This record gives sequence, C-alpha cells and structure tokens, in this order.
Amino acid sequence: MGFRERYARFMLGRYGAYGPDRLSRAINFAAIALIVASLFVRYTALNITTLALVAFSLFRLLSRNYEARQRENAAYAKIADKFAPPVRRAAKGARRKVKTAATRIRYFRTHRFYGCAKCGSRLRVPRVRGRLQISCPKCGGTFIAGGRAAARSKSPKLKKAEK
Ligand SMILES: [Zn+2]
Repeated sequence: MGFRERYARFMLGRYGAYGPDRLSRAINFAAIALIVASLFVRYTALNITTLALVAFSLFRLLSRNYEARQRENAAYAKIADKFAPPVRRAAKGARRKVKTAATRIRYFRTHRFYGCAKCGSRLRVPRVRGRLQISCPKCGGTFIAGGRAAARSKSPKLKKAEK
C-alpha cells in the first residue's frame, strides 16, 4: 500500500480529509508568520503561541467531529468578514505611505514636494532657487511656492515667479 493510499485511509472520516477550511488556512498562515517572526525575535510566548496554533490546526485536521469544526469555521468567517474591509483599508493606507516615502527619498536631491494650495494635490517640483509660480495639472490653479509645503504627484507645469 503506497503512502497516498495509506494517508487517504487514515484521513477517512476526518475533518481535514478534503483540505483545510477557511479557519484552518488562517491558522496555518498565522503559524507560518509566527515561525518567520521567530527567526528575528525570541519570545517564549511567541513560540508557545506558534505551538498552540500548530496543535489546534492538527487537531482540526484529524477531528471526526464535523459539526463542531464547521461551527468554528462559521464563527471565524463571520468575524473575518466583519474585519476584512477595515484591515484592507489600513493595508492600502500603509502601502500608500510607504510609496510616498520612497518617492520622496528617490527625488530628494532634485525635487521638492508641494501640496496644491487649491485642491490639495501633491505636486513634485524640480528644486530651483527662489520662489516659484506653480500651476497645478489637476485643477489648473496657480500658487506661489517657496516655503516648505510638502507632497508629491506628477510633475506640474511651472515657471519662475516674477518678483
Ligand atoms: Zn490643484
């Protein structure tokens, strides 16, 4: 009897026979994340949590109590669905911040960043001496920049401000 066959026979009637459900996937993902984290930091609590997650995942995989496991999965799905949008929004905001910071670092030597005085668009402007009249490519508004307002965007049209 090959391994696959033996495994199939062993899993017969067990909850994990048809692959992990949503809760199991989340637990496994969390366990892997904690294992990766444990490569960088050492906390006993972290290791205990990882072990507990792996143990719970195995327990669910081998369990014969379908009803209880399905109830757990449904309870988890309800919570996960409730928190998914705000978590996604927060992740998106964090990504945007990282991107903004990266752009600022990349253009630090050659450009300055301004927020449009009218619409608030972020404008990337080449560094020049003196004051600039900037015209915003989004709203067409013009404003004088020379202070240290900051932001980023596509290159706006600009010309030296007359004194
Ligand atoms: Zn504007």
